[in-house]
Amino acid sequence: MSWKLKKGLKALLAREHGAVVKDWGGKASVALLYPNTYRIGMGNLAVHSLYRMLNSRPGIVCERAFLPDKRDIAEHARSDTPILSIESQRPLSEFDWIAISVSFENDYLNIPGIFEMCRMPIHAEGRGSEMPIVIAGGAAPTLNPLPLSLIADAVVMGEMEAYVSDLIPLIESQYARQDVFAALDEMNGVLRRSAGFTPLPAALRPRHVADLDPIKTQTSIYARDAEFGDMHLIEVERGCPRRCLFCATPVIYGAHRRRSAAAVIAMVEDGIAQRRRMGLIGADILSHPKFAEIAEAIHSRGATFSPSSVRADAIDEERARLLAASGHKSVALGVEAGSERLRKTLAKGLSDDRLLSSIATLARAGVTRLRLYFMIGLPDETDGDIASIAALASRARDELRAAAPRSNRATSVDLTVTPFVPKPSTPFAGKPFAGEAELKRKVKELRRAIGKSKGISARFDSIKDARIEWRLANGGADAIERALE
Ligand code: SF4
Repeated sequence: MSWKLKKGLKALLAREHGAVVKDWGGKASVALLYPNTYRIGMGNLAVHSLYRMLNSRPGIVCERAFLPDKRDIAEHARSDTPILSIESQRPLSEFDWIAISVSFENDYLNIPGIFEMCRMPIHAEGRGSEMPIVIAGGAAPTLNPLPLSLIADAVVMGEMEAYVSDLIPLIESQYARQDVFAALDEMNGVLRRSAGFTPLPAALRPRHVADLDPIKTQTSIYARDAEFGDMHLIEVERGCPRRCLFCATPVIYGAHRRRSAAAVIAMVEDGIAQRRRMGLIGADILSHPKFAEIAEAIHSRGATFSPSSVRADAIDEERARLLAASGHKSVALGVEAGSERLRKTLAKGLSDDRLLSSIATLARAGVTRLRLYFMIGLPDETDGDIASIAALASRARDELRAAAPRSNRATSVDLTVTPFVPKPSTPFAGKPFAGEAELKRKVKELRRAIGKSKGISARFDSIKDARIEWRLANGGADAIERALE
């Protein structure tokens, strides 16, 4: 056992505010495992939410564990130390349960290595009664639970809060393993190997809660070492009222639900002593009917806000003013496709004119920098659509410059270009992935079209990672092994 690693975890814990360190006596123990590094995992609200929910129960002790950083992986190997929980620095194999939360498909690939480092067989059938019961959930397995179906003892589909009445009492019960499995077999929304999984049982449906207001989904542990660690994160809504045909959000989260302004402001109050910047999480924050009230409430408390996403067609003078009042000089917009024709096929519902007039509104409010998100490799995409991305970026830059006040003309437009990955259960499920050669050609074409355009830069997401994501998102029970081959 490496004392250096233990010391590192203790130091990490000491730098946090809000962690819960409980005595284990008589309690059911749960290791909450996020299969990526601490920095990324602690930027994920699901981790905060599950941690708070489980630790609020007197009969449960929940501790966190993450994929060690590269430097620490070497120390684990050198010292033959298994992955340890942050709070009590115990090996994960000593817990009664391991709950894996996975938001992004590519994190699946870290799971076999983590199990190996935990000295636990990767496949559920190889783990005996002395081993923890492994359950998994999160956005990625809700969309497709199959890749984890041989690894986890059970895959929970949908929102954890919807399982409070039966899964949490089951954890607290400390029943024998076989009794727990029998109870899981009967639970709606839970995939068990014994239920058979190819194809998925038709009755298997993710569970969702009807009302978000009674649930506080916000930062519960403040950690400067985490992504977004300088903010108090607050979930304002779940799902999305729009239904762009390529998008998995409406499938994962079901019906769109918003928190009331009062519930959001109560969470602002909870976090204000720790952070002066509020990260508002949701797909369409600016369209909240009480957005102005929420924004003013934050500003009146001497704090600012940062929305996780902004829809171009939700921008008006008032909302742009509020964004600017929160210090936003830069705004990110999802445009998805360069041409109106292609955007229509996605049901994106955003015209060029609407986009450009929103950009002008933002510029007048003081925004000088835009990040525009586009996808390439979309169904029915032509080379003309690729050229349209560059043309639209130029028009966006010109609009931004023209509308900016004279004193504020140092503008820039940054593009983020992502390969389209068809996701299961969306209307675009089953559409082809464009393939590496074709995507490389499109990237080259787009780079050429952008050329040396002044004030425009482009970042291209990895084609290789997108291909892996596509295979994992649409794969079966052997998807992880095949992707690692
Ligand atoms: S792309 Fe954005 S606006 Fe469209 S459905 Fe998804 S989250 Fe909603």
